[in-house]
Order: sequence, then structure tokens, then C-alpha cells
Amino acid sequence: MLTTVEATHAIKQAMASFDSEVVPLDRAIGRVLRQSVHAERDQPPFDRVMMDGIALRFSDFEEGQRRFPIQSRQHAGDLAHTLEAGKCIEIMTGACLPEGADCIVPVERIAVGEGAAEIETGYSAKLRQHVHGRGSDHTEGTQLLRPGTRIAPADVAIIASAGKPDVEVSRVPAIRVVSTGNELIAPGKPIEAHQIRESNGPAVVAMLKEHGYTDCERDHLVDDLEILEERIATHLEEADVLVLSGGVSMGKADFVPQVLQELGVEVVFHKISQRPGRPMWFGIGAKQQAVFALPGNPVSTLVCCRHYVIPALAHASGVSPGNPEFAALAQDVAFRPKLTCFLPTRLVSNAAGTLLALPVHTNTSGDFASLTGTDGYVELALEDTFFETGTTVPLHRW
Ligand code: AMP
Ligand code: MG
Repeated sequence: MLTTVEATHAIKQAMASFDSEVVPLDRAIGRVLRQSVHAERDQPPFDRVMMDGIALRFSDFEEGQRRFPIQSRQHAGDLAHTLEAGKCIEIMTGACLPEGADCIVPVERIAVGEGAAEIETGYSAKLRQHVHGRGSDHTEGTQLLRPGTRIAPADVAIIASAGKPDVEVSRVPAIRVVSTGNELIAPGKPIEAHQIRESNGPAVVAMLKEHGYTDCERDHLVDDLEILEERIATHLEEADVLVLSGGVSMGKADFVPQVLQELGVEVVFHKISQRPGRPMWFGIGAKQQAVFALPGNPVSTLVCCRHYVIPALAHASGVSPGNPEFAALAQDVAFRPKLTCFLPTRLVSNAAGTLLALPVHTNTSGDFASLTGTDGYVELALEDTFFETGTTVPLHRW
């Protein structure tokens, strides 16, 4: 049986990277960048005026001149005018600094009349004030975005300002989410006392979509060897990733590992020393498809999806790993089994700025209703059995 760390490592080792594709900028949000983006030009590309007002020569101001005849008006997007000595140019935010000008006085500090601008008494100016110097943000050719960046709105601005109408990103994998179990009935269908609502499939799809994996389709299969074989074979044909739930334990109808192996999916591991989710199975198909078979108990399914499937998809998409997060336990926790414990928690922060994890009791790993309002789960090390209030533990947000 693998540890949680070994299982994570084994998945990353076994999974192939997803291909990349070029998408227009308007479809880039949330996608994983697979190229570098470099500055097309210096930023700003010219000495940029940052205030509406007048542009003048600082030396004229320094020599005591306060009244400046207005020579011309220059807007953003105009070619730079050339300033004559002793005069000023009315200037707008975003305009290029006029040739010969080296000081901007804001419009709030002047009075305009009879073709001249008068600066208020007592006003003190500085050389190059309100000028955003050419190249002061970055110079042409600077690497602005690295491969592995998940594209946020600010990154879209960066790509656009680099002059790119499209961008190379990871292809979104086709994912099939397959729930197994004779007892499962879809919402909206009549249900008998001995049956269970199919909730894992919708929840897994929701989690995948929330993390940006939007190409998901669902299926429900009964615990029948022939049906499982036929349908899973189709899914293996059509998808890059399969996420199954149920049927991986020791029950007489837990056919999933057997069926997968018969279909040529090579087992990488079966079982992880963790609770919930110990019976998790993972393998790689003949066409490099990643196959995650998660235990069916709803809390196990969600924790395993978040802990293994989501990071594996991110890794195969080329996402640069982020920094791990930690929280301090807000209460004592005893956990005797020699297993890593994933404990659902709410998060609050105290006045000292410490993030506190408030464990939420789940009544067995079937108790998915208690997960509402949780922010994620903390990870309690396999080696220990008692975790005191204040212990810092790894945190995984949903
Ligand atoms: P299994 O892993 O198939 O042994 O299922 C473990 C428990 O989880 C059983 O009580 C199942 O009824 C329940 N379960 C399995 N799959 C689902 C599902 N898709 N939705 C809700 N409950 C499920
Ligand atoms: Mg089952």
C-alpha cells in the first residue's frame, strides 16, 4: 500500500503531458500557458504623461516663471509636439511628453485665461514630475509570463499588450466521469427505499469544472461485468481521462479494477494508506489515458478527486506548482489508525493573522451533507495519533 506522497508521485510519473493548442485571446482566460510571453516594446513605450494639465520646461519654472502662454494642445495618441522656450502645452493623460518639456503641472494647480496658464502661488514642482518614464516598467524583450501560468485577467492584459491576438495553451482534456453501482438513481427519477441518489457524478463534474476542466461527460453504469466492459471500453476510446467512482473495494460486485485491467489499463497502484479513500485505484490505458477509480463513499470520492485528480490534471497541463498552504488546528484531534487523515475543515483567521482550521465532524465517509460550508481539508500525518490545538498542518482548499 502506497503512502499519499508516493501515490501522488506515482501518478505524476505515469501521466503524459496534455498536448498544446493555439487559442484566440478571448478564449484564454483560465487556460494554462504553454509559451513564454515577452514584451513587444518598452513599457511605457514613450515618456507618458500621467496627469491632465500643462507641460513645460522645468528650468523656466525654476527661474521663477509662473505664467505660461499656451502654445498648443496635445491629446493621448497625438504625435509629440515640440515645446518652445517660455511656453506651455495643454496636455492630457496618456499623451507623449512633448519634445523639450520635462515637467507636468496638473490642471487643478493652474488658472487659464487669455491664452495663458498661471500656476498657483506657492506651488512647488519637480523635474519630470507626473511623467511615467519610457521603459520604467519593463524594457522590450523582458519575459512577462512563463509557461505554466494559469491565465488570469491581468495576464490577458499582458498578452494583449505584447501584441498577441492568440496564445499557446494546454489542450483541455476530454474527461469521462463514470459512477458505478446498482443502487444509484439519478435525481429526478422515482426512487425506492433501498436505492441511493447518484450524487458523486454531478459533484465530481462540478469540481473538475470549477478547476477549469470543462470538457466532462457523465455516465452511470450498473455493477455488471459485461456492461462495465463495453461502456468503459468506449470511454477509453473517446476520452483522455476517466474518473470512476465506486466498485473498487473488496465487495463481490466491486468489478472496476478487474474490468480496467481486462481492457488493458495497467495498474499503477491500488490502495493508499489514507482515510477516507483507502481503496483508490489508478492506472494508465493503452493510449496513455489516465484512469482514476475512486472509492464510492461520497466524502472519499470528493477528497480523492481533489487530492489526486485535480493536481494530476494540473501537472499534465504543465501548471507551475504553487506554494503549499498550512493552517493551525483550532482544536485537539485524535486519530489512531496508522493512516494519513484528510479532515474536512472550515477556515477562520484570528486577530494575529493566523489561519485556523476548524475540523468538521463527518459521520463516516458517507456523510457528504456535513461538507457544506467547508473550505477544504487538512492533512494529518500518518506517523502521529494525536494533534494538539495549534499544530500547523498542510491545508488543501477544495
Ligand atoms: P462502493 O465504493 O461502490 O462500495 O460504494 C460505497 C458507498 O458509496 C455505498 O454506500 C454506495 O451506495 C455509495 N456510493 C457509491 N457511488 C455513489 C454515487 N455515485 N453517489 C452516491 N453514493 C454513492
Ligand atoms: Mg458500489
